[in-house]
Amino acid sequence: MDHESIGPILLGAEKIQKRVRELGNQITRDFMGKSLHLIGILKGASLFHSDLVRAIKLELSLDFIAVGSYGNRTNSSGEVRILKDLDESIKEKDVILVEDIVDTGLTLHYLLQNLSARDPSSLKTVTLLNKPSRRKIEVPVEYIGFDIPDKFVVGYGLDYAQKYRNLEDIRILQK
Ligand code: 5GP
Repeated sequence: MDHESIGPILLGAEKIQKRVRELGNQITRDFMGKSLHLIGILKGASLFHSDLVRAIKLELSLDFIAVGSYGNRTNSSGEVRILKDLDESIKEKDVILVEDIVDTGLTLHYLLQNLSARDPSSLKTVTLLNKPSRRKIEVPVEYIGFDIPDKFVVGYGLDYAQKYRNLEDIRILQK
């Protein structure tokens, strides 16, 4: 399948890379003198996570967590289950949770509650994409790459039925 038939580009590769560098610079400034622990949420945030960590000029360590939701997403109960837990303890660490997209906010809400119970020194969130119009629950998001409209997007880690994660641009999926 050629890329154009998936749907129009919402955010081009260069724009994404520029914004990721800006977020990396901002986080570097905000945490100057500290070491960071960056947790990527699999699988969607894996590409963003790997670019972002290279844009942060601080000592840091990495971990990953994978989550899934019960039932289908459209009438999501907000119940999230952990499919793969962290490898390491986050106790007394400065943690940044790295999300691909915050939509209803239910996944992030669950994760923030779960992780804050593990006693990190600090816990902040960075998301590449944010769909504010879809929010069902208020969640704190300290760093946001782009606010986007209520469209289903794919590319740069985001999938539709496990496809399109490898696209360099973020595209609106036309179904
Ligand atoms: P929330 O719990 O905030 O509703 O959902 C967040 C998750 O839903 C994201 O991590 C992502 O997996 C999925 N999601 C939400 N919107 C989109 C979208 O436009 N495209 C893709 N590929 N996934 C999305």
